[in-house]
Amino acid sequence: MEQHTYHEPVLVGARLTDSKCSTMSSAALQPTSGDCPGGGAPHIVLLPSAGMGHLVPFTSLAIALSTGHGCDVSLVTALPTVSSAESRHIAALFAAFPAVRRLKLCLASFDASTSSEFPGADPFYVRYESLRRSAPLLLGPLLAGASASALVADIALASVAIPVARELRVPCYVFFTASITMLSFKAYFPTYLDANGAGHGIGDVDVPGVYRIPKCSVPQALHDPYNLFTRQFVANGRALTEANGLLVNAFDALEPEAVAALQGGSVVTGLPPVFAVGPLVLVNLREAGEAAKEQGNHYMAWLDRQPARSVVYVSFGSRKALARDQIGELAAGLEASGCRFLWVVKGAVVDRDDAAGLGDLLGEGFLERVEGRGLVTKSWVEQDVVLRHPAVGLFVSHCGWNSVTEAASSGVPVLAWPRFADQRVNAGVVARCGAGVWVERWSWEGEDGVVGAEEIAEKVKAAMADEKVMEKAASVREAAAAAVADGGTSYRSLAEFVRRCRDGTAASNAP
Ligand code: UDP
Repeated sequence: MEQHTYHEPVLVGARLTDSKCSTMSSAALQPTSGDCPGGGAPHIVLLPSAGMGHLVPFTSLAIALSTGHGCDVSLVTALPTVSSAESRHIAALFAAFPAVRRLKLCLASFDASTSSEFPGADPFYVRYESLRRSAPLLLGPLLAGASASALVADIALASVAIPVARELRVPCYVFFTASITMLSFKAYFPTYLDANGAGHGIGDVDVPGVYRIPKCSVPQALHDPYNLFTRQFVANGRALTEANGLLVNAFDALEPEAVAALQGGSVVTGLPPVFAVGPLVLVNLREAGEAAKEQGNHYMAWLDRQPARSVVYVSFGSRKALARDQIGELAAGLEASGCRFLWVVKGAVVDRDDAAGLGDLLGEGFLERVEGRGLVTKSWVEQDVVLRHPAVGLFVSHCGWNSVTEAASSGVPVLAWPRFADQRVNAGVVARCGAGVWVERWSWEGEDGVVGAEEIAEKVKAAMADEKVMEKAASVREAAAAAVADGGTSYRSLAEFVRRCRDGTAASNAP
């Protein structure tokens, strides 16, 4: 059997069958110098859940802690990944940043049994559930073997990771990968349910000290108390007060009300410190851009040929596909807008299942008609690099939080078109700060109505010409850069988190 060094331990469950996974050697379980109250580099173990929307910010956090704050960092990777994008991203991370250690966690048979229990459920939520069920068995030995100074667990795993870490007296921080406004909603939601009775339906949710989240912006799944996502959401929301601290990939200046309300205790009492550490930037962007060109990703070369601020970048994220009729209207709308555009089209939830050709999705003749001014791809693009390209003038976005933070960092205005989950709350943040526009009546998943081509064309043209929004987006970019620069609010928050890990402060604060 393969023996793993400390640098690449693997943990497997008793029922696992993946032949690529093997057991951890006893050497792998020896404590290391990672346990460092009082000095030295803290060893921080990062535990993401699933999907690029979680993996990307965890990767950015790993890089920031390792290269910017001198930490010893391990990233837990659950295998097999749900999407191909995740496995490529993981491989790229460990190739580019060998100082970040990898802890493999193999889950194959848990996934199979969990999927059959929740037929038709979103595969990413099924993976969260697999990880949640595996945590009591697998996470303890992994943490003990790694001799971690602190665990940073994904919000989707908070309620199961915190007890395991506490048992081992390892401080457990929770990384919230969405907006601070959404964090405040999540922290308050269990109180709302307790006060209103879970069976009474969800109405507007007035988050104390923040603002009222209208019923229509509440994530769709939360209207069903038995939904898998709802159960996880509520359990994790209740667990927040048990964490040693909450990290969030956002910055104070963008969501001042939510920051003040969370820190001032008006959302719920007993929350641990909140560290707004974003927007975390993924990699050395210039290098990433060059790499994209070298790999034959023609979109960068195509962008190079377009005039400044002339291109509308269109993407609805990594994990949902628009309905076919909506794709058709969007295509017609982009065509009618007369604008140049780069559009990343998805035909299925999980990339591995996405077999439809572009011609089938977009209709006959579309690609020929827009040739030269429109580039459409089904492939992964380096979005953060695309958004920093001077040719990009507008981002038609579903408002996944990473997309919002990437738009904020690059100063590109957003035409918000949220589709599900927290995206309407995030679109509210975009509209409130003025760095984008949101047509609130545009439908999202589960609502009737397809947004028509004519209206799409009109809004795209208007947003491209909106100088006020452009100026605001530029000022948000300045604020984002200032937050993460040495001495900025997010830089200092991350440094304070590292100090606590190093000094063991969090352990002594543990509930
Ligand atoms: N992304 C990318 N290329 C793509 C599609 C997505 O780089 O072709 C990245 C995007 O930059 C972001 C993440 O995948 O960092 C998606 O996260 P987000 O929160 O925006 O949305 P989700 O996919 O979770 O809905």
